Amino acid sequence: MTAALLQTHEVRNQVPALEGYDAYGADPWLRAAVRRAGVEWIDSAAQALGTYVASAEAQHHATLANRYTPELHAFDRTGMRVDRVEYHPSYHVLMNRAFSAGLHSLAWKRDAGGFSGRAALFYLWNQLEQGTSCPVTMTFASVPMLEHAPDLLRDWRGRILADAYDPRPAPVLQKAAVTIGMAMTEKQGGSDLRAVQTVAVREGGLYRLTGHKWFCSAPMSDGFFTLARMKEGVSCFFVPRSLPDGARNPFLIQRLKDKVGNRSNASAEIEYRDTAAYAVGEPGRGIATLINMAHHTRFDIVVAAAAMMRAALNQALHHAAHREAFGKRLVDHPLMANVLADLALEAEAATLLAFRLAAAFDGARKDAAERELQRALTPIAKYWLCKRMTAVAAEAMECLGGNGYVEEGALARLFREAPLNGIWEGSANVICLDALRALAKSPEALDALAREVALAKDTRLDQRLVEVRQLLASPANAESGARRILETIAVATQASLMRRYGDAGAADAFVSSRLEDSLRAFGGLSLDAAGLQALVERAKLAA
Ligand SMILES: Cc1cc2nc3c(=O)[nH]c(=O)nc-3n(C[C@H](O)[C@H](O)[C@H](O)COP(=O)(O)OP(=O)(O)OC[C@H]3O[C@@H](n4cnc5c(N)ncnc54)[C@H](O)[C@@H]3O)c2cc1C
Repeated sequence: MTAALLQTHEVRNQVPALEGYDAYGADPWLRAAVRRAGVEWIDSAAQALGTYVASAEAQHHATLANRYTPELHAFDRTGMRVDRVEYHPSYHVLMNRAFSAGLHSLAWKRDAGGFSGRAALFYLWNQLEQGTSCPVTMTFASVPMLEHAPDLLRDWRGRILADAYDPRPAPVLQKAAVTIGMAMTEKQGGSDLRAVQTVAVREGGLYRLTGHKWFCSAPMSDGFFTLARMKEGVSCFFVPRSLPDGARNPFLIQRLKDKVGNRSNASAEIEYRDTAAYAVGEPGRGIATLINMAHHTRFDIVVAAAAMMRAALNQALHHAAHREAFGKRLVDHPLMANVLADLALEAEAATLLAFRLAAAFDGARKDAAERELQRALTPIAKYWLCKRMTAVAAEAMECLGGNGYVEEGALARLFREAPLNGIWEGSANVICLDALRALAKSPEALDALAREVALAKDTRLDQRLVEVRQLLASPANAESGARRILETIAVATQASLMRRYGDAGAADAFVSSRLEDSLRAFGGLSLDAAGLQALVERAKLAA
């Protein structure tokens, strides 16, 4: 009787959750990227992480950590300031897993291929959850900063590189592992950091900072690289959250942002009041000092954006393979196949670009040409993949119809997350202008990019770089044309990579749709049904 009451109707044509597989072993593009980089030593770690990120358990943690968002406890019961952020336990589970897997440290522990191997893990992680990626990235990117204050930060290095997670607010010497944040943006502007208002005053061997920061993510981190003004100009400092004697360093969390996405991660407005800080790098050169950290976070954004495109594509492919409309599976409808094939081209080209950049970071340790390529390509790839990610997320969501637009599915979170990578660590225009300055300063950088494009032996691609040189030759127009310049370089580089590493059909489709067609929406490929299905097939996760 009860069972009969529950069964009001038969549930048909709903799609099973995409879970319970190995996101590494099943992904032919990622495995090929690992082989190309010669970092097969990452296989077993990637398999373990790939199995975790695609598990129902991990996805449930990601859902909970984003639904039950961090809470600020500025004061305790008695009215004393405690400035503590409380996260959902699932956030800590994910943080523990990410840091234990060495997502923040691996690149610095391997001489050969460390960036590529780590990129494989980070690519997998970003198919799961991005709120945890933020502290992972900042901790990863803090390592080059240690060179600017080797004596002061000696106690920190080993703890930054430890593959462990210890969320306790405690002095560094009492902790086995620490996480690092960065606090630069103030109310009056985040792009124009020359306008920083926070003031630093020397006191013995330390400095005291007074001022505010308008965005400070992961505010429970153990230490923060930050900017403050002194007579020499805007300078870089390091603020530990706890002082060596165990006392709290004044770090007042005024409010948490109510964000569109990235909700598992807290982003705070903070104030410094006579906050103790160590000087980092040369006084007055704070922005130049911090740029290396930003360069590494930008690299991570490139990998994350490619991974998020892969995740969005996987959801769309999975849904279309299971859902039926008008008597056949969605994927068998030619127009849906066109959309999926086009999304697949975008995600594959993004993945190739991200791993080429990772290889350039690896190569840069020994090779000047790779160093040039790495410097120039990082902002270019950051700009372009962030722009494409948002479009890919929206289109993939549409492939799921109404089911894509509800919070129970993975796409809603990806969609809300998508624009953020384009905003932080340099919003698009600022990134474009940065890249332009780098290209103007170093003709070798453009030569390195042109050589990379030329490897495809396709004169149509080389011609794009000639056009770029013409645009750059007119500085008056270069600034307003900066997006055109970056997009052209990014797409020509992707096309070259597709020619070399994709299959011939995919490369042809990419070049004709991205370099010759003027269509902008996904789903406008000029291919027959067999050509479209071939692109869909090669994008599928292996069973
Ligand atoms: C969720 C989240 C978390 C964040 N976490 C941190 C953090 O942990 N630490 C931190 O320091 N910051 C953080 N930020 C801040 C972020 O880095 C800044 O928002 C970003 O750098 C842009 O600064 P802004 O918001 O002041 O915008 P503005 O600088 O006012 O820029 C607004 C727009 O103008 C454009 N623009 C600026 N200058 C020019 C120009 N010369 N020509 C053309 N266009 C221009 C920009 O590209 C942008 O599109 C976070 C932001 C978000 C949303």
